Amino acid sequence: MSSPSAQRALSNQKVVCVLYDDPAAGFPPKYAREGIPTLTRYPDGQALPSPSAVDFTPGHLLGSVSGGLGLERFLAGLGHRFIVTADKEGPDSVFERELPDADVVISQPFWPAYLTAERIEKAQRLKLAITAGIGSDHVDLQAAMDRNITVCEVTWCNSVSVAEHAVMQILALVRDYIPQYGWVVRGGWNIADAASRSYDIEGMDVGVVAAGRIGLAVLKRMKPFDVKLHYTDRHRLSLDVEKELGLTFHENVESLVGVCDVVSIHCPLHPETEDMFDEALIGKMKRGSYIVNTARGKICNRDAIVRALESGHLAGYAGDVWFPQPAPNDHPWRTMPNHAMTPHTSGTSLSAQARYAAGVREILECWLDGRPIRNEYLIVQGGGLAGTGAHSYSEGDSTGGSEEAGRYTAG
Ligand code: NAD
Repeated sequence: MSSPSAQRALSNQKVVCVLYDDPAAGFPPKYAREGIPTLTRYPDGQALPSPSAVDFTPGHLLGSVSGGLGLERFLAGLGHRFIVTADKEGPDSVFERELPDADVVISQPFWPAYLTAERIEKAQRLKLAITAGIGSDHVDLQAAMDRNITVCEVTWCNSVSVAEHAVMQILALVRDYIPQYGWVVRGGWNIADAASRSYDIEGMDVGVVAAGRIGLAVLKRMKPFDVKLHYTDRHRLSLDVEKELGLTFHENVESLVGVCDVVSIHCPLHPETEDMFDEALIGKMKRGSYIVNTARGKICNRDAIVRALESGHLAGYAGDVWFPQPAPNDHPWRTMPNHAMTPHTSGTSLSAQARYAAGVREILECWLDGRPIRNEYLIVQGGGLAGTGAHSYSEGDSTGGSEEAGRYTAG
């Protein structure tokens, strides 16, 4: 077992944490609101993160380097070394230089420190990789299994945050919001132009690929729009849930995309889902369909998406996930027609940051004390997929090509 559950507390650990850069305007930022609402439980009853304490103010920027996930005082107080950096690409990066004697790596999907097999090989002391968020595909999970490294994430911490973003982008595409906003900002009152690609979603067929925590939250939020709801997943929902939401279940993604006007993608990236939306699958969609992908960029074939938008087969594409990240400056999704992309932000609202920072602290407290990490946080443990990993992933690796992230230059 890689969990130190039978051991005494760990001392003198080196924790390397890769976070996104501070705001260009400086840190700390000026906040738009005084705080965030207090939640008591997640929608399925799962308990919120439960560290012994936190050293931060919920609602503050925790996910950037100076925010440091609010962990500095806690780790330094126990005598551990805590290195935080945004410098993650290439052999001369701080991340690669600190890796060889790191015991724990913390990274985020938004600014992922790709833990490829080569980097895992260099990190001979590494025993724990924590994702400050959800989605651990930036780790070569096969290499982690082979090396008996535990991989875990903060399940539920930003699932509703992403669902809200997906619903926003579904509406932005179908109503054609962003070009209309453009008319206001540029000046003009060209109603015919502004309305020429704008539709009501009412009555449309809307489907999700995967109805896990996020996919189900999207279905629940779309129901009041009086649309026909569809889903596919390798685990079928209960008949009660299907009935309550009026869902049509599809045995496979081909069946779902053939009937839907809008498809929202919510499965993790793993070898089974990589390149799922390729030329052939997109070709099975109705002309004028929309895709929203807040799951992972690599689930969609980059160039097939561009071609389908250029030909008009797809009416629009949105999402917040790219491959690699940061997306190189010449990534074609930045300039393709009829897109409503954001950078990878849906799961790192200030609200979500408080939950993933607290969840990372909970995981560290368990690990350092030699207590088990919650099963639902586990992706890999003991040389195999575990917990949520066993439910939602397949074995193998999806980090190939991630070194392309080094081509990005800050604007
Ligand atoms: P989850 O584990 O609750 O749900 C994942 C679902 O995917 C499960 O129901 C599983 O059965 C299904 N699935 C897995 N492989 C499948 C396949 N081949 N075909 C059909 N269904 C399949 O996870 P979640 O909280 O809903 O998150 C899902 C994913 O969303 C994450 O893994 C991550 O990649 C992404 N995510 C993105 C952001 C963001 O900021 N954009 C934030 C959080 C999560």
